[in-house]
Amino acid sequence: MQTEFLPIVKYYYSGRKRVLPMYADRMSNLPPYLFARIDEMKAAQQKKGVDIIDLGVGDPDLPTPEHIVRSLCSAAKDPENHHYPSYAGMPAYRSAVADWYGKRFGVTLDAGSEVLALMGSKDGIAHIAEAFVNPGDYVLAPSPGYPVYRTGTLFAEGKVHDMPLTRENGFVPVLEDIPKKVARAAKLLYINYPNNPTAAVAPDGFYREVVDFAREHDIIVVSDNAYSEITFDGYRAPSFLEIAGAMEVGIEMHSLSKTYNMTGWRIGMAVGNKDILSGLGRVKTNVDSGVFNAVQHAAITALSGPQTCVKDACTIYEERRDVLIAGLRDLGFDMPTPKATFYVWLPVDDCMSFVAKLLNEAGIVATPGVGFGASGEGYVRFAITRPVARIKEAIERMRRLDL
Ligand SMILES: *Cc1c(COP(=O)(O)O)cnc(C)c1O
Repeated sequence: MQTEFLPIVKYYYSGRKRVLPMYADRMSNLPPYLFARIDEMKAAQQKKGVDIIDLGVGDPDLPTPEHIVRSLCSAAKDPENHHYPSYAGMPAYRSAVADWYGKRFGVTLDAGSEVLALMGSKDGIAHIAEAFVNPGDYVLAPSPGYPVYRTGTLFAEGKVHDMPLTRENGFVPVLEDIPKKVARAAKLLYINYPNNPTAAVAPDGFYREVVDFAREHDIIVVSDNAYSEITFDGYRAPSFLEIAGAMEVGIEMHSLSKTYNMTGWRIGMAVGNKDILSGLGRVKTNVDSGVFNAVQHAAITALSGPQTCVKDACTIYEERRDVLIAGLRDLGFDMPTPKATFYVWLPVDDCMSFVAKLLNEAGIVATPGVGFGASGEGYVRFAITRPVARIKEAIERMRRLDL
């Protein structure tokens, strides 16, 4: 698998044969980009004229709400916004984030020291290890999990310790299963609820356990809360920072991407412990130059304006979820009904062959669970980022297959 990643470019240099690019060793540590194979299979089907139903992408199909787009347009016309932004984010944006955290979670944040603007939460997730992880240090990351927990660690030359998320443990890491030696040598712990890809939510008491564990072992907690607003059936997702003591041990990465259908805009926030944030900020100061001010203005509009657009999006996802879950159950599959996120995590025998069959015989794209880590084997992820009619069509196509 690793070979698909190797360069095929050959370069001849002043008569001596050189093979370029000469990648650094850490590049070979990166996991193979398995999704490239799915893209290839998808392209082959498209070339044949197959009508593809893409349930693979974790990217809302719904547009960014109109009032947010209007806010960007007017801010973009103001020359004041054409300069380099400040590294940490505009004071007004950081205040809007602090206000939103207060209103939404009851978490009090100091906008000046406990909020940092990000170019999407991926920015923070990818760079935090650079600030706190020495070569050889452990980082505890869920498997399956958002792939950047792993790659951010590998770029910092840290070691990833997988915390398996299984159906038996409710897709929640069992902290007492982490070997003492690993816990002692760990610097960071990633948690992510509501969870991508399993769609699980944090059970009561879990965040409390995480705070105690982090205190005991001096570990920094990074809570990835990208899906807190995409919830159903009256479920309300908490922030990790609601827990007493969380502010001393951790930060939370959040984002406007999933909440307001703004994945392309690249804006998010890291909030929480100010010393941890200042480490992340120091790395970022040397890597990027902040978020376009006009985008920050639009984000202020999103966070402080009416939230009906968020509710409307959840209603749409909820209907899609119900159609997909009912359809899959009717086909004989068995899985819990997600309370949050726009994913369905389906148990199957062999994820790669299941995905290949769906794609090659029914024109349906789903994501193989193993792409999110070894413990994702035996599952595929469906994203309900397509209209109900397409989801119904996918179920009908699956009915014709021998699954
Ligand atoms: C989408 C996603 C993110 C990152 O989104 P940004 O667009 O970078 O804010 C982070 N974590 C998880 C689990 C995600 O699914």
